[in-house]
Amino acid sequence: MSAQEDRLKQVVSGWQSRGQWPHALLLSGASAPFLLKLATHLAKTRLCLTGTGCGHCDSCRVFEAGNHLDFHLLASRVTAEELNLNIDIEGPTTTRRLIRKEQVSATLRQLSLRAQREQGWRVLLLVNPEELHGASANALLKSLEEPGERVFFILISNQPRAVLETIISRCQQLTLPPPTRDELTQTLIEEGCDPTLAQTLAELQRRGLHFAESDFAGRRQLVVSWLAAMANNQDHQRLLNLDQISKDQAPDQILELALSLTLDLMRLQSGMPTTELTHRDLTHQLRELAQAGPWINLSQTLAAARPALKRNLRLSSLLMGATI
Ligand SMILES: [Zn+2]
Repeated sequence: MSAQEDRLKQVVSGWQSRGQWPHALLLSGASAPFLLKLATHLAKTRLCLTGTGCGHCDSCRVFEAGNHLDFHLLASRVTAEELNLNIDIEGPTTTRRLIRKEQVSATLRQLSLRAQREQGWRVLLLVNPEELHGASANALLKSLEEPGERVFFILISNQPRAVLETIISRCQQLTLPPPTRDELTQTLIEEGCDPTLAQTLAELQRRGLHFAESDFAGRRQLVVSWLAAMANNQDHQRLLNLDQISKDQAPDQILELALSLTLDLMRLQSGMPTTELTHRDLTHQLRELAQAGPWINLSQTLAAARPALKRNLRLSSLLMGATI
C-alpha cells in the first residue's frame, strides 16, 4: 500500500470509529489519475452496505459494474476525456476547462433525488473544482452548504490553490504526502508511459519538473551530445549542439534537463550507486562520460544560468563559454 493510500485509510478509519464523516472532502497532493483512484474507492466505501468497501455486498457489486445510481460524477468535458470518465455531457463541445452551470444543476438535481438503495447514502465526486467559475460555482456552493441528509461530496484537485476559497472553506481538506519515485513510476506506466523512460520522468516529476514523454528522449539526447562534445574537446561539434539546444521551445526546461544530467555525471564520478541517478536508463552512456569530469564547473554555470534565463537572456549566450 502506498503512503497516500495509507494516510487516507487512517483518516477514514478515524471517521468510522467516531461515526462521523465530513459532508465534503477536498483531496489533493497527487496526480489526477491517482486521486481519482483513491476517491473512487472512498466513494465505494461510503456507499458499501457494510461501510468498508467490502467488494461483496450488493452496493459494492453494482458500484464495481459502474452502474451505481447513487454515485454521481461531475467534471468538465476536457477533464472527463483526459481521465476516461464515463459521463454524459450535453451542450457545445469546447476545449475550455470549464464545468458548465447546466452540468452542475443537472447533477445536483439527480443528487437531490431519494437514494436508490436502502442504506441511503449518495456520493458526488467532483473532479478539479478549480474548473468551476462564476455561476457554476454558485450553483454548487448552496449544496455544499446544505448538502442534505446522507450526502457525501468528494472533491479532488491537484491544484488546490486554484480552487475558490468559498468552496475550500466548506470542505475538510486532506493533502496526501508526496509520492515516492516508485509510486510515480507505477502511475506513469499505468498511464501508458514507456517503462524505460518512466523511472526517469518520475524522478524529474518528483523534483517538480514535468516533461512530456513524446519528445523527451530526443531533447535529452541533444543535451547528452552537447555534454559528450565537451567531454571529448570537440569544439566544432559543441557549438553545433549548442545551436540546436538553443532552438528548443522551452529553454528553462532544457536547462533543467542539462543540470539534472550534469548532476548525474558528478554522482557517477564520486562513486555513488547508480540507484541514486535521475537518468537511470542512461547509466551506461553517462558512466563513460563521467570519467571526463569533474563536471562541477559546468553544474555551476548551469545553475547560474537559471536566474539569467528568467531575465530573458539567451540560452546560447549563457552557455557559450561553458566548460566541464
Ligand atoms: Zn460492500
